[in-house]
Amino acid sequence: MKLNYYQLISLAGLLHDVGKIKQRAELPIKNEFNWTYCPEDEHHKSKYVHAAHTADFLDWFIDRFKIETDEQENNLVNIAAYHHKRGDGGALEEIIKKADRLSSGFERESSDKSGKYKEDRLESIFSQVWLNKKPKTHYYPIKELSFDITPEEKPSSDNKKEYKRLYENFKNDLQKIKKDQQFDVFWDAVEHLYEKYTWAIPSSSFYSYPRISLFDHSKTTAAIAQALYGFHKSGNTLSAEKVRDVKENEFLLIQGDFSGIQNFIFSRMGESNKFAAKILRARSFFVSLATDLVAYEICRRLGLTKAAIIMNAGGKFTLLLPNTPESIETIYAIEKETNEWFEDITFGETRMVIAFVEASDKDFQSGAFSKKMEELVSKLEINKLQPKPTKIVFDDYLKNISANGVCKVCGKHPAREEGSTPICELCNKFKQWGEKLVSSDFFSIQGKKDGFLKWFDVSFKKDNNALLIFDLKNNDEFKGFAKTRISGYVPRVTKEDDDFGKYKDFEEYSGVGSIKTFAMIAEDAKTPNQKGEFVGEGFLGILKADIDNLGRIFIEGFKDNISISKIVSLSRMMDLFFTGWLQNIIKNEFKSVYTVFSGGDDLFLIGPFNQIVELARRINKHLKDYTKNDDIHISCGIYFAKDKIPVYQMAEESEFMLEKAKGKGKDRIGVFGRVVKWDEFEEMMSDEKIEYYLSEISNSFRYSLYQYVNSIERLNDKSKTARDLMWKPLFLYQVYRNVDKDLRADFIESFIEYFEKYGGDFYIPLSYYIYKNRRK
Ligand SMILES: [Zn+2]
Repeated sequence: MKLNYYQLISLAGLLHDVGKIKQRAELPIKNEFNWTYCPEDEHHKSKYVHAAHTADFLDWFIDRFKIETDEQENNLVNIAAYHHKRGDGGALEEIIKKADRLSSGFERESSDKSGKYKEDRLESIFSQVWLNKKPKTHYYPIKELSFDITPEEKPSSDNKKEYKRLYENFKNDLQKIKKDQQFDVFWDAVEHLYEKYTWAIPSSSFYSYPRISLFDHSKTTAAIAQALYGFHKSGNTLSAEKVRDVKENEFLLIQGDFSGIQNFIFSRMGESNKFAAKILRARSFFVSLATDLVAYEICRRLGLTKAAIIMNAGGKFTLLLPNTPESIETIYAIEKETNEWFEDITFGETRMVIAFVEASDKDFQSGAFSKKMEELVSKLEINKLQPKPTKIVFDDYLKNISANGVCKVCGKHPAREEGSTPICELCNKFKQWGEKLVSSDFFSIQGKKDGFLKWFDVSFKKDNNALLIFDLKNNDEFKGFAKTRISGYVPRVTKEDDDFGKYKDFEEYSGVGSIKTFAMIAEDAKTPNQKGEFVGEGFLGILKADIDNLGRIFIEGFKDNISISKIVSLSRMMDLFFTGWLQNIIKNEFKSVYTVFSGGDDLFLIGPFNQIVELARRINKHLKDYTKNDDIHISCGIYFAKDKIPVYQMAEESEFMLEKAKGKGKDRIGVFGRVVKWDEFEEMMSDEKIEYYLSEISNSFRYSLYQYVNSIERLNDKSKTARDLMWKPLFLYQVYRNVDKDLRADFIESFIEYFEKYGGDFYIPLSYYIYKNRRK
């Protein structure tokens, strides 16, 4: 593989500290020559020994992938491994050296001689941010990335053994990557593996505290190094001295955000939600993919590698580019092209908003970087408010409409042809994507041939010569390509469902493996009781949730200890909660839950109402475990609906519940029209006695309990009636008539306690029980 300088610098940046894994595994240096990469102390003892290990690894890496460069001197080993030797390197070595420092915000250096770094464990990024109360510090054990990662106070593991295992597994997995392919495919795969194996490794043998993940340090080093190279190349200032002493703004920090995502995803679905399950997923995939591809196109047009993409989650990306006239021109050009393209597809519902700020070396210093981020975020917000340009007349729109009518699915585009359900080109494409997303193992991106993506084509297989290839399967097995985080779980008909004939009379039913429609998902809410009859309402639960105050946490949470690598870490780890853990738990335990979107800091799910309620509890609980930080919490809104309700209405109603939950002070769940704190919700929902008592009384008495709940709710209100004030004697009378005498005393004591404690909120467990057990 022949590399150009951007590619070379990016790889050198990413892998410059790879030797730390090998060093901590206490493996020998294979090539004696590699000791020359380590500076010596006054007693001629080698310092920064990891540099020799980095060189050792890269010898193997270069050989394995047949990496070649134009000039012998500027090879990957020299550039990556010379970063601790002073003065004797060229411009490229100097660039890596500088990027290494800027990445960590110039944190104070200390020696690695003590050997303590071998025992260190990485501090959780969530232990490093707070708004109100500094959290207790938690650490990660040294292990590879998995779906189940929680920080611990004192993780115990045999570090040396773990480092050795990670190093060997990393090398084994690398060998599954093909030698000859497009650099960007190769880069994604290498980066994916580097994250998998180094996310929990502290980068800190030179810094005072093990606070930065080796992966995020390496990723940002690569981004900074590439930007530095681009800046100096463009200005003809490519010398070690100029790289060191530059006083200008060398960098551009860019953020891009799709506004109007929800309008686009949920826009009208036709009268009967026909194909909704397929199309929603595909539209959501399209938004994430379009975000990825806009970011990628900026890199591609500038000749940069994907190292420039430092964050990318939840429909938003952040890039680090060289501050050159070409960069700025390209950003404007792509913003314009994207928005013209989006006008055609979404009729102005969706818009790409881009903002950028210039940055210099000193902006990477601890305190300064939060100011840069703040500046960038507020610029983006201002740009969002600017009026969007709209084409008044859409080309050929009216002409095409008259021929075949309007698409029955989106109600916007002209239908392609007549038929039982006239459908437009775009919706038809989404319908196909929806099907392929669940049945394919890979997808590829090629340069433009045809189709509706602006610059690229998508196919759902591994194409030779594709620019990008992703593995769609959300599992642990590495098959040579990076895994995508943008595909969400979609429930499908199982063999068991089919044998049972569960949906045989349903519309759109097409056997084992097909995507469940919302009607089928609603059907899954019914569960067998002791007698084996299926009971419960066939309701959908629509859940919308997002992390509270995350914007503030990013900017204020780190106090003075902020650095670009920590910001990147926080974004990546938050995204992982939604794309990793959550998707895995849905796949294994909440199999009927459909992911509309899940990533960044928010999610939107549709499932059987009872699975949605249980899943909401799990999400809240796991978030606490995952972050061990009281300042990080989530607000959630749930709405229950019949499957025939139009999807955009489901979205609006759940959004309304979420807003209500946020309005009451966040860290709350809005469900059954009520808003309660998570603790109270959890207490009510986990109280098995409530369920037991409700199961022991008649259905009509159960319904009459609503009266008391309502009365108690009104007690503090002007609208209270004489009957409300009498709730207790009325309740006692009813209990004597309706509850078995053995249970009576307990029942009264417990229910008076519930009513007084929960007031109107008791509506929640009461309604949940009734919905779950209702019989036809
Ligand atoms: Zn359509």
